[in-house]
Amino acid sequence: MSYLKDSDPAVYAAIEAEKRRQQEHLELIASENWTSPAVREAVGSIMTDKYAEGYPGRRYYGGCENMDTVEELARSRVKALFGAEHANVQPHAGAPANLAVYLTVLKPGDTILGLELSHGGHLTHGSPVSITGQLYRAEHYQVNRVTERLDMDEVRDRARAVRPRLIVAGGSAYPRTWDFAAFRAIADEVGALLMVDMAHFAGLVAADLHPNPVPYSDFVTSTTHKTLRGPRGGFILTRQAWAQAIDKMVFPGLQGGPLMHAIAGKAVAFYEAMQPAFRQYQQQVVRNAARLAEGLQARGLRLVSGGTDTHLMLVDVKANGITGKEAQARLARVGITVNKNTIPFDPEKPMVTSGIRVGTPQVTTRGLGLNEMDELADIIAGVVKAPGDADLEPYARRVRALAEAFPLPGLEPS
Ligand SMILES: *Cc1c(COP(=O)(O)O)cnc(C)c1O
Repeated sequence: MSYLKDSDPAVYAAIEAEKRRQQEHLELIASENWTSPAVREAVGSIMTDKYAEGYPGRRYYGGCENMDTVEELARSRVKALFGAEHANVQPHAGAPANLAVYLTVLKPGDTILGLELSHGGHLTHGSPVSITGQLYRAEHYQVNRVTERLDMDEVRDRARAVRPRLIVAGGSAYPRTWDFAAFRAIADEVGALLMVDMAHFAGLVAADLHPNPVPYSDFVTSTTHKTLRGPRGGFILTRQAWAQAIDKMVFPGLQGGPLMHAIAGKAVAFYEAMQPAFRQYQQQVVRNAARLAEGLQARGLRLVSGGTDTHLMLVDVKANGITGKEAQARLARVGITVNKNTIPFDPEKPMVTSGIRVGTPQVTTRGLGLNEMDELADIIAGVVKAPGDADLEPYARRVRALAEAFPLPGLEPS
C-alpha cells in the first residue's frame, strides 16, 4: 500500500492498525469471516471505476463488455452453486436484497411474518426500527419457550392467525437447522409467498451441510460476506417467473450503478465456494462449532436450545450471573471478539442482553481445529465465570499464544 501510505497516512495507519487487531485477536463474531487474497484483489481493483447501470447485455453506458463478463460469471456461478433459476448479484448488501423482495411483492400495509428479532431473527424481518417494520404490518413467530427451537405447529398457528402475504424464514442468531419443507407447506396453506434469508448459513448450504432453501422458496436472499466468505454484499435467487420483476426492482427501483468491484469479488468467492476445499472448510466450521458448544457446556455454561447444528451458538451468560454486555467487554479484554446478543424471552434490554453469540467461521478459516476449540472453551468459560475483580491476564496470554500459532497470511505491514 505504498501509494496510500504516502497520500493518506491517516487512513493508512487505521488499516495497518486493523491488520494488527485482526492478527492479534480471535474473531468469534458469527457473521464475520476472512476473505481470500484473490477476493480482496478483485474488490480492490479498477472495477470500482466503471458505471454499469443495467444488466449484462443491457447497459445504459458504453464500455461495459468486461463488466458483462464479470457479472455473468457471478450470476451463472451462484445459480449453479445453489441450483437456482435466476440470480441478481447487484444488491449492495443483505438489507437492500431483502428490501428489493419486499418492494416487489408487497404493498405498504401488507403483512409479513418473520422470526422475532430477540429470538434470532433480523432487523429487516419487520423490526419497528427498520423501514421493513414501518412500511408493512410486521408479525412475528417465536421459538418454543421450553425447547428454544422453532416448533412448526406454533409457526403454523401464528400464520393462520395473521394471514401473511409473505413468510420470512432465516435469521441471524438461530443455531438450529431450518425446516424449509414445513415453511413451504405453511405458506401454501395460508396463501403466502415464502422468502428464505440465508445470509448466515449460505456457506453451509453451498457445502450441503444445511438444507437448500431454493427448491422450497419463491425468493432466497443472502449476504456474501458471512459463512460464504466473499466480499461485503448481497444477492437474490428466484424463479424465472419473478426474474424480471426482481431485476427491475433492484435497478432502477432501488439502486443505481452496481458496485462492479464487489461483483467481481462475489464471482471469485462463488468460484471458491464450488471447490472441494470449501466443503472441507465448512465441515470444519460445523465440527468446530459443535466441539466448542460441547466444551462450553461441559464447563458449566448454558447454551440456548442446548447446542448448535450450525456455525453459531448463543450462550446464556446471565445464567452465570453476568450480562451479555459485560461478557463481551471481558472477552474483549483478553483478545476474543464476540457480540452481546438477546436470547429468547430475554429480560434484558438489547443494549445489555443476557447472551453472547459465538461463531466459528473466521477462526476456522484461520486454521483453528478441535484441540483449539477445547482451549477456547476453557478460556471463554473461565472469563465468563471469573469473579468481577479477577486478573484476566493469564487468559489474555493464552489467547495471544493461539493467535500467534495461527497467523493470518498476507497481513504483514506493507
Ligand atoms: C446480516 C444479515 C442481513 C443484513 O446484511 P447486511 O449486509 O448487513 O445488510 C440480513 N439478514 C440476515 C438474516 C442477516 O444475518
